[in-house]
Amino acid sequence: MFYPEAGMERCTAALLLEVDAVALVRRGKGKGRGGAPDAALAQYVNDRPYAASSLLAVALAQVFKTALHGVCRALPERAAAPMPLRIEVPVLPARGGAALVRELFGPLGWTTVDAEPLPLDAEFPEWGDSRYVRLVLEGEGLRLADALNQLYVLLPVLDDAKHYWVAPDEVDKLLRAGEGWLAAHPRRELITTRYLSRRRSLAREASERLELVRLAEADGLDVEDVDNAVDEASDTEERPVPLAEHRRAAILAALRAAGAARVLDLGCGQGQLVQELLKDVRFTEIVGVDVSVRALTVAARRLRLDRMGERQAARVKLVQGSLAYTDKRLGGYDAAVLSEVIEHLDLPRLPALEYAVFGAARPRTVVVTTPNVEYNVRWESLPAGHVRHGDHRFEWTRAEFRAWAAAVAERYGYGVEFAPVGADDPEVGAPTQMGVFTWTGAEAGNDEKEKEGRA
Ligand code: SAH
Repeated sequence: MFYPEAGMERCTAALLLEVDAVALVRRGKGKGRGGAPDAALAQYVNDRPYAASSLLAVALAQVFKTALHGVCRALPERAAAPMPLRIEVPVLPARGGAALVRELFGPLGWTTVDAEPLPLDAEFPEWGDSRYVRLVLEGEGLRLADALNQLYVLLPVLDDAKHYWVAPDEVDKLLRAGEGWLAAHPRRELITTRYLSRRRSLAREASERLELVRLAEADGLDVEDVDNAVDEASDTEERPVPLAEHRRAAILAALRAAGAARVLDLGCGQGQLVQELLKDVRFTEIVGVDVSVRALTVAARRLRLDRMGERQAARVKLVQGSLAYTDKRLGGYDAAVLSEVIEHLDLPRLPALEYAVFGAARPRTVVVTTPNVEYNVRWESLPAGHVRHGDHRFEWTRAEFRAWAAAVAERYGYGVEFAPVGADDPEVGAPTQMGVFTWTGAEAGNDEKEKEGRA
């Protein structure tokens, strides 16, 4: 928090948010299943540090906690009364553009709602505008708490990419922050669906409760009582097991079935699978490989590598490397896992990975998982035609994956079997598809040696 100016006439409070990706990921983990499996921050390059995203909304709620609740012990009358306010958000990600920003803040009592689109690149105006705007709000009729609550809800709504898993109590949070302005807002539906990350069941619940609030407000009833009554009636939905957990379970089962002991996790990311592997003593040597140093740093912290006992530490190694290059360090292992990795490579680079893994490292078993694009229509939160992750270079249908896998198996002397991961939809299949490759020992001599070695 900075106060660039603090005088009798005017005070400016500037909140600068520095995003600590590592801390965020660790906190997400602390909540157990609360962490989103594909958290925006797991991506490598993004706008989070530079834009007023949903992260800023969370920061607002923490830094201005009492102000947000309209509490000021020293000057309670100040907090309770409207005051002249000017709010500036220099870089606001706005899905829906400046027009939507005006629609959202317009009905909320400001005298000025200025949303100015920012150019994609100031030096190349011909490239047009970005999806970011500079927002200035001015007014005299609002309490500071009103302004903060509006921002708390509307920043993530405009950002439209919440960074944490939406939990059932989000509805309560939304209703609390929306008190006095959301129930009667003309864009209430959009606000609730986006705020709740398009989880339809939650959005419906919020919507029904808000409608009751609106009716109660119109009738002059005590809003709180109505709200509590509805609260008790509405059943909170059970949270499904995250897909990432299903995936790890399927991979572990495949590795166990293959009798693998020394395992490579290629593109290990933040080390969740490595962590699971460590729990089972049959996996005697586990190597996590990733091109991203940041991911490896997070993985090392997750595993507490620095505080690990000697025996455990001897079982696990994290190494940096690119799978697009042949790497001697990867030779001689029982199995390799490529979990949600191939789709991160540009298609023309994929044959290089195929050679590095199946041709050069050549473990006996290779487990590959990748999204099944056919399933995308079943994701409530996924706009039509979008891939699941900003960094996915492609997502395949089941037929495409099978064709690719069969060709790779054929070329490098493997057999391959397929399995669905996650709820298998009769029409579009499961959300994740898995291929388990087993080396068939194309050259007879190798096969004998292999058998001897295993015996
Ligand atoms: N296997 C993990 C992470 C998947 S995300 C899981 O299932 O959750 C994809 C990972 O692949 C990222 O961590 C990314 O850094 C890594 N990756 C992408 N391209 C790579 C490459 N060429 N070489 C090594 N790792 C790569």
